[in-house]
Amino acid sequence: MRRRLATRRFDPLTDQVNLHPRDPVRAYIGLGANLGDARRTVLAAIDSLAGLPGSRLVARSGLYWSAPLEATGPDFVNAVIALQTSLEAHEMLLQLQQIETAAGRLRPYRNAPRTLDLDLLLYGTACINSPHLQVPHPRMFERAFVLLPLAEIAPELVSSGQLAALEGQRIKPMVRS
Ligand code: ADP
Ligand code: MG
Repeated sequence: MRRRLATRRFDPLTDQVNLHPRDPVRAYIGLGANLGDARRTVLAAIDSLAGLPGSRLVARSGLYWSAPLEATGPDFVNAVIALQTSLEAHEMLLQLQQIETAAGRLRPYRNAPRTLDLDLLLYGTACINSPHLQVPHPRMFERAFVLLPLAEIAPELVSSGQLAALEGQRIKPMVRS
């Protein structure tokens, strides 16, 4: 039987990233941006995500334009990627937040326009319900800007019924993605 290597526990206070090996997991991340050069920000974020420690980019959807949902402001640029990663889920969330901050993300109010939003949609088959992290992402199945790009790279994860339920939401593939 394969034995797991002992791993140091993740300590959010010291913000340490656990680089010790563990069984890799397929994680899906949703990207969105609607301030500044949103297309460029999303593409740069995909590069940053591909370079995360212990992680490898395995799939990337095309880019999409979507109308803001429950919010005002410019249309969003969206995409979904898949990473094969040894990062633990909370470590992954911290990494996502660091990339958001580096892109100039502020949080003035709920659903405010944002230079970059990175959501951990799925982390293998894990169900996580901790104060700072819920996986699967609790709102992902209500959002065409998540399900359409996710269906592009992982059609087995999205049913036609789920897509049909979101038909009213305005979203279209970007011609130059
Ligand atoms: P939203 O993405 O819903 O518009 P934010 O990006 O401002 O909102 O995130 C708010 C909080 O959501 C974050 O502080 C984070 O702790 C929490 N959160 C819970 N689950 C997740 C997840 N699966 N992915 C990303 N953030 C999450
Ligand atoms: Mg978010």
